[in-house]
Amino acid sequence: MAEEHRGAEVGKVRDRLAAERRRIAELIAETEEGEQEGSSELSTLDQHPAEIGTETADWEVALSLHEQLTGELADIDAAERRLDDGTYGLCEACGRPIDAARLSALPASRFCIEDQRLAEREAATGAVS
Ligand SMILES: [Zn+2]
Repeated sequence: MAEEHRGAEVGKVRDRLAAERRRIAELIAETEEGEQEGSSELSTLDQHPAEIGTETADWEVALSLHEQLTGELADIDAAERRLDDGTYGLCEACGRPIDAARLSALPASRFCIEDQRLAEREAATGAVS
């Protein structure tokens, strides 16, 4: 990267990523507390079979939230690595610079808006690459 003007920005981006990491880590801790409560309730559930349906739904919501948060944390790790090696702000799929407004809103973005849409469409249709 020959773009020296990015130097001042990097510190700001690191601060934002660190703040996001703390926020997400707190949310993950909350979902993990919920899971522990859920599993302790499971031992008494066999006496109340009618409640299993709703418990399972709560469990699935907590699990998918946990997966989503873990994924966001991984994105932040990846963004920090890209700051270190100077590729931060470039789309991982096509290598073009990610839109500045998008990066400002989502500092851990890995893809440009086009490739993000593509990835979400593939995820939605269950396409396997
Ligand atoms: Zn792209």
